[in-house]
Amino acid sequence: MPTDGVCAPIAELRDRALDRCSLCFPCLDDPARRSSLALKVALVALHLVYAGFLFLFDEELIEKTRREPWYIALYLLLFVAALVQYFITAGSSPGYVLDAMETYNEANTLFTRSPTASKHTASSKNGSLMGTVDNSHSGRNSLGRSSWSKMVLEFYPPGTSMRVLTCSYCNIEQPPRAKHCHDCDKCVLQFDHHCVWLGTCIGQGNHCRFWWYIFEETALCLWTGILYITYLKTSISGAWWKDLIMILLLISLVILFIFLLLLLLFHSYLVLTNQTTYELVRRRRIQYLRGIPEGLFPFSKGVCRNLYRFCCARSSINNMERLPTALELEEKLRPYTCLDVLTCRCC
Ligand SMILES: [Zn+2]
Ligand SMILES: [Zn+2]
Repeated sequence: MPTDGVCAPIAELRDRALDRCSLCFPCLDDPARRSSLALKVALVALHLVYAGFLFLFDEELIEKTRREPWYIALYLLLFVAALVQYFITAGSSPGYVLDAMETYNEANTLFTRSPTASKHTASSKNGSLMGTVDNSHSGRNSLGRSSWSKMVLEFYPPGTSMRVLTCSYCNIEQPPRAKHCHDCDKCVLQFDHHCVWLGTCIGQGNHCRFWWYIFEETALCLWTGILYITYLKTSISGAWWKDLIMILLLISLVILFIFLLLLLLFHSYLVLTNQTTYELVRRRRIQYLRGIPEGLFPFSKGVCRNLYRFCCARSSINNMERLPTALELEEKLRPYTCLDVLTCRCC
């Protein structure tokens, strides 16, 4: 048909254009990535709306920018920092168990290649991990799963069944505090939660970045709110529709600020006590936390060390934590004495 003759080149051109589009933006092929991209665009747009209306309506602010450029420069710096922090956190790995296993296996392979190395001892600086793996061991895969399984088992009390530790989705042994995320379809080390807003899991690898992101957003929200209040104080007699827009935006900012502040305080509490959101919310359902009295934080090593680990520790096998023994739990439960206070036992 003649129509086919006319349409065929057009269809071909369209297909080529779509192919090029897919090549340039591969994320648009996947619905999950598409929604993640939409969220990112929405976040940037939201920031621009709040700041844009301020600079559009507030003539005093424009005047102040000329008089005191450093003040607005600082505000814009925080504005950009919050956005950059969002993208860094969203793009960072939460610390996947599979990656940790691969790293561990690679390290084992290197040791095996070395003729002198017969044993590999993995130990953390603060003693949270003391796992010795004998490379001469042979099993399913002498450098693979069996070595990993053996190391993971060392984090649990003796007699723990391997079946209980194995994730039924990834078929991989989970170290303590790891959990399978159904959104990411991967096991995450020190799983905190899956953040829909960031489109990624929050775990051992990016919890610190996440805290900083909430902190920067809270500060930005507060500063923007102050600028809105200042505008309304000085320009309330201006055009009513301008005031209405600014009041509505201010109300939403206040709600956002309260939410962010509570989230920041909540995560600060988790950091200081070395807990995760998942452990706090599902405490009774998590097997390794069953039987531990309420108010006792089994992984806490004191405020200062918890803070140090949170800020400086990176997602790796060296930072996995073994389950505390009965003796250690008993020690944590011991009531505070004057000497404990003097020696800063809680720190
Ligand atoms: Zn899994
Ligand atoms: Zn996830």
